[in-house]
Amino acid sequence: MYQTATNTSAPLPAALTFDVDWAPDWAIDDVTTLLRKHATPATFMVTHQSPVLEDLRRDKDLELGIHPNFLQNSDHGDTYAEVLDACLELVPDASSVRTHCLYNSSILMQFIGREYPQIEIDSSVYLPDNANIFPASIEIGRSGRKITCLPFAFADAGFANRPDFSWSEDIGPFQGIEIYTFHPMNLALNMNEPTRFSALKEHLGERRLWTTTREEAARFRADGDGAWTYLESLLKSKRISAFATLTGLLEQWRSRKEDQSLESK
Ligand SMILES: [Zn+2]
Repeated sequence: MYQTATNTSAPLPAALTFDVDWAPDWAIDDVTTLLRKHATPATFMVTHQSPVLEDLRRDKDLELGIHPNFLQNSDHGDTYAEVLDACLELVPDASSVRTHCLYNSSILMQFIGREYPQIEIDSSVYLPDNANIFPASIEIGRSGRKITCLPFAFADAGFANRPDFSWSEDIGPFQGIEIYTFHPMNLALNMNEPTRFSALKEHLGERRLWTTTREEAARFRADGDGAWTYLESLLKSKRISAFATLTGLLEQWRSRKEDQSLESK
């Protein structure tokens, strides 16, 4: 029997992911408060030490991955090993990674494959305007090990660059996996165009992003529809039957694949 990824009845859960990106604690708190209100699991890609990290760790509905910054002048270090070790110090049991600014190289992936066996999921590929996204298990270098790539279809910063995107538009349905990426600071700004973030950065000058106060962010926050209202609408969506963490999504995907291969025998 010919196998397709879509011959099961119930749709897969969608996944919400949040790249922390050095956001202030109150902005992260606002996101977890909203998620808890809807009893929704999600994945946070962690960038830095802060008191709110303990709250994220304690929440059984939340999965923590790492968000390493491999760009120049990174807080995390100067080499692949330094950067990854600094991030894994924050989240010692992380099994998923999304690189900051989606940095990638085959050398990096081989290094992770060889030296960091705990990393099983990479979600650093952005594929907007694509409703047929499927997990790809990729053999890494000569390690013989596979890392599963889970691409995402939506990024708040990416869609904010689209002048004609309507923030009440449903980008589904999806044939395969449906992963959304938000950033707590973009959510605090209810971002609907990139200048909101650049204006805030200009206002902060030399100050780090995590020092932004709620009052300061409010000055640059969009009225009406934007990233925050988009997240709210996803949480209330009738089309999306459930949400899962990245690991949960991958588990469901794999168990369906197994069911399908049994069916095909
Ligand atoms: Zn980032």
